[in-house]
Amino acid sequence: MVAQRENNMKAIQVVGPSQLEVVEIPTPEAGRDALVRVHRAGVCGTDVKVFKGQIPGPRPIVMGHEMVGTVVEPGSRGLVAAGERVLIDPATACGYCDLCRRGRPHLCRNGGLLGRDGDGVFSEFVVAPEEKLHVIPEGVSEDAASLLQVLGTCVHAQRAVSVFPTDTVVVIGLGVSGLLHVQLLVARGIDRLMGVTRSQWKLDLASEFGAAATATIESAEEGLANLSDGRGADLAVEAAGVEATLSQAIKLAGTGGEVLVFGTLTGGDQGLPYYDLYHKELTIYNPRAATPTDYDAGIALAARGRLRLDDLVTHRFAVDDGADAFQAVQESDSLKVVIDFSG
Ligand SMILES: [Zn+2]
Ligand SMILES: [Zn+2]
Repeated sequence: MVAQRENNMKAIQVVGPSQLEVVEIPTPEAGRDALVRVHRAGVCGTDVKVFKGQIPGPRPIVMGHEMVGTVVEPGSRGLVAAGERVLIDPATACGYCDLCRRGRPHLCRNGGLLGRDGDGVFSEFVVAPEEKLHVIPEGVSEDAASLLQVLGTCVHAQRAVSVFPTDTVVVIGLGVSGLLHVQLLVARGIDRLMGVTRSQWKLDLASEFGAAATATIESAEEGLANLSDGRGADLAVEAAGVEATLSQAIKLAGTGGEVLVFGTLTGGDQGLPYYDLYHKELTIYNPRAATPTDYDAGIALAARGRLRLDDLVTHRFAVDDGADAFQAVQESDSLKVVIDFSG
């Protein structure tokens, strides 16, 4: 039974720096768009930066861009029926600029992100254009479904790099996205894969997901030398988003290798190993967001049971405990933190 529209809904807003409020606001009118009832939403690093005021934008704003929900009122074209379970592609695009017209709407010059540049998905209902909906098949658990938006961005990133099953790959940083990269690379046939991070339990998880080797930051160079017969990595994935790990990725990459910068780096004062970039003739990829086909590929992988997504959800909170969710996501014992909006 699909929950029907209600006049008011709960939402989690940020009202000022590190000030979060669970509020009752009017349920939005769908107009020609679809009305979606949110089941669960995931909290990610971007939300934390919005919460803390490190990313400026309108206030108050409903946060959040990762969600799974059910269509309550279809849009005017009826592309997705009522009762279908969906995720919403959270990137907005103008459809008009040169990048949109070149088929790259995820790079839109006038685009934005739900929950950062406009109201997001941390609310009981969300309105979305029909073309932004991606149907999630039965058999994908609710926990797994709440990870499909992040997974789409990892799929998008991996489309950029050319990996072959015989390649040696290192993934630096084993949070949610790092562990998703590990799983995608194992699914692509990489058997010489090393996961690198500080905490032992995340290293254990990477091993469970199929990483052949794991190492701490300090032991990574030696571990990789063993794994690659001293050649270094054909592909080094940076999934922590700080300059120190990018620097390490450049160092661990072998001559002629590729570096995938997945984490979002801002600023930096470390002085990257520029000579290595030149001397090893490295190729660096820094992909952004995801395209619609990336979400569909991620959903298909999840539906076919190729990935272990449920293991990545470590904390669940009710909407009224939204502040605790933001606390938990900043603790090192958490991976994906989800907020339950289904009541
Ligand atoms: Zn995110
Ligand atoms: Zn555009």
